[in-house]
Order: sequence, then structure tokens, then C-alpha cells
Amino acid sequence: MLTGSTYDGWVTASTDGTTRRVLLAAPRGYCAGVDRAVVAVEKALELHGAPVYVRKEIVHNKYVVQTLSERGAVFVEETDQVPEGALVIFSAHGVSPAVHAQAEARGLRTIDATCPLVTKVHREAVRFARDDVDILLIGHQGHEEVEGTAGEAPEHVQLVDGPDDVDKVTVRDPERVVWLSQTTLSVDETMETVRRLRERFPALQDPPSDDICYATQNRQVAVKKIAPEADLVIVVGSANSSNSVRLVEVALDHGARAARRVDRAAELQDAWLEGVSTVGVTSGASVPEILVRDVLDWLAARGFGDVHEVRTAEEDLLFSLPRELRPARTAGR
Ligand code: SF4
Repeated sequence: MLTGSTYDGWVTASTDGTTRRVLLAAPRGYCAGVDRAVVAVEKALELHGAPVYVRKEIVHNKYVVQTLSERGAVFVEETDQVPEGALVIFSAHGVSPAVHAQAEARGLRTIDATCPLVTKVHREAVRFARDDVDILLIGHQGHEEVEGTAGEAPEHVQLVDGPDDVDKVTVRDPERVVWLSQTTLSVDETMETVRRLRERFPALQDPPSDDICYATQNRQVAVKKIAPEADLVIVVGSANSSNSVRLVEVALDHGARAARRVDRAAELQDAWLEGVSTVGVTSGASVPEILVRDVLDWLAARGFGDVHEVRTAEEDLLFSLPRELRPARTAGR
């Protein structure tokens, strides 16, 4: 039974009399940037036919990448793996100007599916670099988004990978320093990093607006709400999905007795349910709802059919498709 929500769930009562329930976090799953990027690949396949090349995983989710591959998308690591003149899509995580230049040099046709909220951070980096301000970019070393943002202003950006990195930071002028961040970080950990940075650099400027995006924040707020009551929180999401991995950490930090990340229901283990009466379920911003439904089915088959959706925010943001995929405007209209 599903209560407290609009979710079309199913009913599986436990048979041994114990109380078993699922708290289903909302918002969860696809954000506006992921939806736009996935639709961009689908639309490009429809308009141009296969193959359509995609630099890096369009979004960090195995199921999505596999499904698009089956439809004709070819995922590559770099643009030099794309045949000259072919069509390549840049992923939601964004690319540096150097990648755009490499694609242009090879005569590639490009579609940029960078999330507009990532592009916003790129613009901030460009602006602060133009003002010759040192930029402390809080983010995870090696993450594609961080590489793209840092690539906008490599001379001005220094990566700060969490609170423990703060002591390593050196700046030219402590009066001219700003922090920016990756969009998918833990809000709490980022604020701790900023607190420590500000101890060292009291004049540290804040970003003009939140860099951690609405979707990351909303999913963390929702998991914080269910975690204190959960014996186990299951986060659906891939291992390379930053925001999914953060949800596991946030759940543990806010009272969940255990938290596990799985790509799909097939990875769930019966042993995880021993002594568990309340299971929390959520999913990262790159996860299609079908994968959550599979997890709920698996739980229902084990007596956890009583599903309560716990909603902490409504989301209705939609981004328009990259301009190369929008219908051409009719002259005179
Ligand atoms: Fe954009 Fe946030 Fe989604 Fe990343 S998680 S694609 S920044 S909306």
C-alpha cells in the first residue's frame, strides 16, 4: 500500500505479522539537466540516424548508457575517437573550451548537452578569471564536470577536494579569492570546506548564486528526512554518479543504520534485510524511475509492500533542448 503520495504503487502485505514499510524519498531520480541530455541523444538519433557519437557517458548511469548504445549511440572517451566530420554530443557534465577546439579542428559536428546549471558555473569561472580573482573550485578530482569548469580558466582555478584539502591551498592575494563548486556535492560537506577556507581567507567571496544545483539539494533534503527512521537506505545510482554516492553518505550522516548503493535491483541482497523493518529508497539525478520500480518490486516480494512516499519539494523545471535540436523557426513568424 502506498500512502502520503501520488505514486501508483502496489500492495504486498508482510505475511509474518512484522511491520515492514518503505519510505520512498521524493524528489528522486531524473533532474531537468539529465532529462534534457538523454532526450538530446534520442532526438539526434531520430534526426540524423545511427551512429551518433557521445563524448563520455551522456549521464552517469549504466542503464541509460546501455539503452542508448542499443539504439545506436557510440560512447567514446575523447573526440579523436570520432571519425572526421561525424556528429558528436557533449555530455551533461560539460566540456572545457579545449575540447570544443579539438572537435572543431577535426571538423566534427557538435551538439552540446551540457546542463545549463553547469554552464552557469563555467560562466562564473570565466567572469572571475577575467577579474583576475583566484578561484577555489570545490569538487572531486578527476570528475568530468570539474575538468570542464577548471578548463575555462586553468590559470585561475585551484581544485579543493573536500575539507582536508584546505590547508594545501595557496592564493596570490587573500583579498581576491572566490569559491565555486561542482554541482553535485554534499551540501553539508561543501559548507564545511567553505568554513575552513574562510578561516584561512576571511575575505573569501561566495558564488553569485548556489552552484550545487536544485536537484542535488532537493534529493539530499529528501533523504535526510527519511534517513532517521530507516534501518536501511537503498540508493539507486551508478558508482560514478557523484550525486548518488553523496546520497549514501548523507543518509548515513543523518541517522540511517545502513545505506547501500545499487545500480539495479539484481544487485540487492536478502541478507541486507535481516532485522530491518523500515527501508528508505531514493535515486540519483541520472536514474530512470523504472530502476526504482524494480527495487520496489523486489522489496514488495519480501514483505515490504507498504510504500509511503515522503515528499520534501516539488520540481517542475524543464530545460529546452540544445539549439541544434530545436525545430527551425519559420521565417516571418
Ligand atoms: Fe544539471 Fe543538477 Fe542535473 Fe547535474 S544534477 S544535470 S547540474 S540539474
